[in-house]
Amino acid sequence: MARCAFCDADFETGPGDVLLICPYCGTAQTKEGVKFKDHYMIRVHFDQHEAQTTLLDWVSKQLGVPEDLPVAANFVKYQQIWYPFWISRVDAQTEYRGLGRDANFYNEWPQRRGAYKRIEFFMKPESGAFTRRHEINIAAVKDIDEDVRNQPIPTRAKEYFSHAHAEEYDGKVLHSNLSEEQAKQMARQIALDRQTKLVLQEVSKIESRDDKIDVGETFLIHVPVWELEYRYGNKKYKASVSAPTGYVIESEYPRSMAFRAGGIGAGLIMLLIGVGLILLALSDVIGLPLPTLFPVGGLISGGLLAVIGLVLMYKGASSKEAKERV
Ligand SMILES: [Zn+2]
Repeated sequence: MARCAFCDADFETGPGDVLLICPYCGTAQTKEGVKFKDHYMIRVHFDQHEAQTTLLDWVSKQLGVPEDLPVAANFVKYQQIWYPFWISRVDAQTEYRGLGRDANFYNEWPQRRGAYKRIEFFMKPESGAFTRRHEINIAAVKDIDEDVRNQPIPTRAKEYFSHAHAEEYDGKVLHSNLSEEQAKQMARQIALDRQTKLVLQEVSKIESRDDKIDVGETFLIHVPVWELEYRYGNKKYKASVSAPTGYVIESEYPRSMAFRAGGIGAGLIMLLIGVGLILLALSDVIGLPLPTLFPVGGLISGGLLAVIGLVLMYKGASSKEAKERV
């Protein structure tokens, strides 16, 4: 529990929460009650109904989805969750010295221009300097689905956080597990790692380097996501849809009986061919009156086919439905 330093209301917090958003007045504040001002949001453009329609429209275009899904699906859960992210603009300047790979070419073949009889590789000292501006995006809650974490955030469309706007859709605004200081430290490290990658494109070994990493504008932004669940037949399927853009972040969906039966059939055929290949490869060993064909290759490809066949059959038959990403 925490008490809002601005409206005096008591509200719930979790163990890792360090930057809190009061669910009554919407003020972002530290646990010590210091107001945090650089708090933004992306506005909702898809209400619950539009998000559901967009989702069903997307799902019904997926391979093997039953045709009656858009009319037969029933939404059983719909909640708008506002996920917090820290965004930092980081200016990075790196000077480096290192060793790059180079080569000498000897004795060009007379008939083949550009082909050499002998190539000698060696390491050569190289140095350089460059600057980059990075936009670093860090999810501010640890317990977050990977696809929700990696969704594109249109930061150019940001506006100041509006408590009233989040309340319009009964949105649940999550507290941040990271303080501004922690977020800036992480952004610095991520920018440094990106610089290292860039240097390693130029040299294969870094001997010395000097980095100036400047973590500039850093803000907290809340991004609304529709967390939906629908029932089709006797099963339930979960989905996440971006509330600003209608983008289907991820969704589970049913597969029709015909599609699954097709999968089982294809799996069975592959399994049979695989077993046949294995038998042919082993016919000497097990004393079958058949010629031994490709002993090693037959075993390997037969084994692979059999395994793929079994997987296809399992996927087709199992009740756990396929989950696909956009
Ligand atoms: Zn408050």
